[in-house]
Amino acid sequence: MPSLQRLLSRTEEDGDCLIWKATLNHNGYPTIRFSQKTWNVRTVIGIHYGKSKRKGDVYTTICKNKLCLAEGHMRAVSRKVLAEKMDKSYASNPVRAAKISESSRKRGKLSVEKANLIRLSPDTQKALAERYGVSKRVVWEIKRGIRWKDYKSNFWGGL
Ligand SMILES: [Zn+2]
Repeated sequence: MPSLQRLLSRTEEDGDCLIWKATLNHNGYPTIRFSQKTWNVRTVIGIHYGKSKRKGDVYTTICKNKLCLAEGHMRAVSRKVLAEKMDKSYASNPVRAAKISESSRKRGKLSVEKANLIRLSPDTQKALAERYGVSKRVVWEIKRGIRWKDYKSNFWGGL
């Protein structure tokens, strides 16, 4: 394992942060190779710092800088908590939410046009379900606006 000194020699101070100046992985996180493996530098430096980390925990930084390795900025959190946090910040952005909704539509059976037809149609849910080859529940959800929310046209409406 590389020594703390060796790791720190590849960083540069930036305010309170300690910025990694060497190799990054494809996600932009500091990495280092030793023992024929690529390691997350946070994990290695976390051991040097003596920060306790339970199995399955990952390190994050309070400054939100991926490159930061400052001892005081690193926090061990469970993957679950981290995923929930990312989910929240992800979905709370209306532009992203609209994009997610759009891409899930593309994967689904229905097109936006069909969903709009279902929403506007005076026909019964049963008739619509048969016509478009979806379940009655899907039709009900479209009519209630649970599914296929029309983000594009209502985008500014709720802001
Ligand atoms: Zn920092």
